[in-house]
Parts: sequence; structure tokens; C-alpha cells
Amino acid sequence: MVVCPECGGELKFEPSQRRYVCLSCGLSLTRDEIDEIKAKNAAATASEDKERLRKEYLKWWSSKK
Ligand SMILES: [Zn+2]
Repeated sequence: MVVCPECGGELKFEPSQRRYVCLSCGLSLTRDEIDEIKAKNAAATASEDKERLRKEYLKWWSSKK
């Protein structure tokens, strides 16, 4: 099953349009667009993780004194 990158719903392939259509939010995407959005989301998540780690480190560092 292919999962909607926007809402996590199920994407159904529409052969006539050669696109995937989300059953939950109605989003219509090509396979390439799905991969693109997934890559973007993965990058965003990675940078959020880095930011969180940095904040935790700063908190730890300032509480040490
Ligand atoms: Zn959706």
C-alpha cells in the first residue's frame, strides 16, 4: 500500500490518470511527486532532530555550571 505523504491515508492508483489519489484527503499525485514529498519530509524531520539535540545540549551545558 502507498501512503499519502500529506495525511497518511491510503493512496489508490488510478490507471486512467496514471496518478495516485488519496482516499482520505483527495490529494492526487504522480509516483515522482510522492517520492519528492517524502524526500522533503525526511529532510525536514532530520533537521528538526538536529535542532532538538542542539537545544538539549545547550540546556545540559547551562545547567552544568
Ligand atoms: Zn491524503
